[in-house]
Amino acid sequence: MLDYEHARHRMVEAHIAGRGVSDRRVLDAMREVPREKFVEEGFEEFAYEDSPLPILAGQTISQPFIVAYMIEAAELEAGDRVLEVGAGSGYAAAVMSRVADQIHTIERHEELAEAARRRLEELDYRNVEVLVGDGSKGLPEKAPFDAILVAAGGHAVPAALSEQLDIGGRLIMPIGKEQRSQRLMRITRTAANKFEQEDLGGVAFVPLIGEHGWAEFPAGPVGSRRWVPELIAEAAEELPTPDRPDFGAMFDRFGDRRVVLLGESTHGTAEFYRARAAITRRLVEEHGFNIVAVEADWPDAASVNRYVRGLPRQEGEEPPFRRFPTWMWRNTEVAEFVGWLRTYNDQAADEAKAGFYGLDLYNMSGSIAALLAYLDEIDPQAAMVARERYGCLTPWQHEPATYGRAVLTSGYRKCEEEVVRQCRELLEKRLDYASRDGEAFLDAAQNARLIASAEKYYRVMYYGGADSWNLRDRHMFETLEYLLASKGPHSKAVVWAHNSHIGDARLTEMGLIREELNIGQLCRERFGDEAALIGLGTHSGTVAAATNWDGAMEVKTVRPSHADSVERSFHAAGKPRCLIDFARQPAVAEALALPRIQRFIGVIYRPETELASHYAEASMSKQFDAYVWFDRTRAVTPLAPAGEPGHVPDTFPFGL
Ligand code: SAM
Repeated sequence: MLDYEHARHRMVEAHIAGRGVSDRRVLDAMREVPREKFVEEGFEEFAYEDSPLPILAGQTISQPFIVAYMIEAAELEAGDRVLEVGAGSGYAAAVMSRVADQIHTIERHEELAEAARRRLEELDYRNVEVLVGDGSKGLPEKAPFDAILVAAGGHAVPAALSEQLDIGGRLIMPIGKEQRSQRLMRITRTAANKFEQEDLGGVAFVPLIGEHGWAEFPAGPVGSRRWVPELIAEAAEELPTPDRPDFGAMFDRFGDRRVVLLGESTHGTAEFYRARAAITRRLVEEHGFNIVAVEADWPDAASVNRYVRGLPRQEGEEPPFRRFPTWMWRNTEVAEFVGWLRTYNDQAADEAKAGFYGLDLYNMSGSIAALLAYLDEIDPQAAMVARERYGCLTPWQHEPATYGRAVLTSGYRKCEEEVVRQCRELLEKRLDYASRDGEAFLDAAQNARLIASAEKYYRVMYYGGADSWNLRDRHMFETLEYLLASKGPHSKAVVWAHNSHIGDARLTEMGLIREELNIGQLCRERFGDEAALIGLGTHSGTVAAATNWDGAMEVKTVRPSHADSVERSFHAAGKPRCLIDFARQPAVAEALALPRIQRFIGVIYRPETELASHYAEASMSKQFDAYVWFDRTRAVTPLAPAGEPGHVPDTFPFGL
């Protein structure tokens, strides 16, 4: 169960105070009003994300930052009388009611006004009056007002509203000639016939519909960011293609680290795999790295490990990586790297051999597959919710429509016990099998740890979301620590995982808002400068991904990076491939420390809702120690089954 009060305080610090709202009374009011009571049922867990959410009548509850920003801009005083146009959920009115004396709020949709009235009554906020009507005309019978806040965008300031301001009164309103974006304006009535205007920045509100507003139109997000491509071009060290031997040598500077973490901004890009393979080859051959630890299930990676060590296949052993998302590891790029590792180990002295390990929650994809199969049979509605939750509750996603589909049903909760029981059984079977593993990583102590925490793992995993993220990343980090310890004081590891696991979470909105941590952060905390966190990114091309969890792999076109994104600055720098080492490039590091939106594509890619589904804010140069850029990239090539062109004849470990 989410601690709403704690989440609210976090949000106020990170997103309201953290982004410059400093009026103490506004901050206190934001800390006091329970936003979870103003969102629709089922959406409570998303109440403290700094994003708008859907409410009845196709409208939205405003983004908390914007609510605070507008109230601060209105310079409300304790004795003020305020008019709000667009009550919506009643949330902004509730916040204002903690700062000013009397709030009148108008909403054109009766059902919304009714729900807002009920909520305010339940909370005993008595100084708010909710009215139904066309607020673009104001409320002449109660004028003049000390402040008027309009929560919907108009094409011009309605004279009816500015006329209802008292002298010295402030009108805050989004104004735009297009329905999709507006400028937030402050109009101050300085004398009976004198008004001053100020532009407070770009915003995106739903339209003001009414006599002095628009006809109905949808709205979308906007924003503007700093442009830094020149700095990037100056700082960039150009890279050859990853198949060239001098590619890996560019990363010799990280050879003395204990742990080198290599990210990827998608789970299906060939160049990212090739680059990580080339860097890893170099680190293994020249710098004594002996652990390759990847974001994959332990038992599957263990099959690969046996292969690269020249150990025979075990009796009854399943070919690895047969479950969704198969293309992440069953692809030609990984097969090539695994082939290389085998050849390398064949000639290396025992102590120089490198192993291949899976860091992920033990047998996670097997467990998810089992639970989906069970729910499909017992409660297809719950199965749909499960697929949605696994596919969408990724830390970078802000997609109210998807959250809606992922809202937990009562049937879903009912299945928890049975699913957890099945997962536990599956684990026991797997552990029995693993105890026969040649390289006995899973010794008794590790086994006991797994069994003890399995119950909790599966309960948390069943529900998805922030808790399961943290559990998973903590587990991955502990497995990494365990591997390093078990291989002795001179062991060194290369980690392959998504950027969202590798870029220090404390410098991203996932850490700041949702208190999500990741392996990168834990490695920095544990290893300090002995860890190197390296992100990989792209502008456009193709990617292997699915549309829904458990869905088929598709080769999808990656949309050119968003105009406001940090990737767009890299693209504009004009380098096809480059490395930026932030420690050596302070000017660009400073510019890229500014929070910007960054793209995250996981096993699911939904280009149609890309901005909401795949972008999140992060401070790139703080999140990573270095960044590797490929301007155009293409999808990985999945391994073809036997009998199809492209089939890899080498049957172990990838044979079917
Ligand atoms: N402040 C609200 C909250 O905290 O939930 C969110 C407001 S929402 C972004 C904008 C609201 O303005 C919608 O509920 C919409 O129905 C309402 N609206 C649009 N035109 C209006 C008008 N002419 N008069 C009254 N309400 C209007």
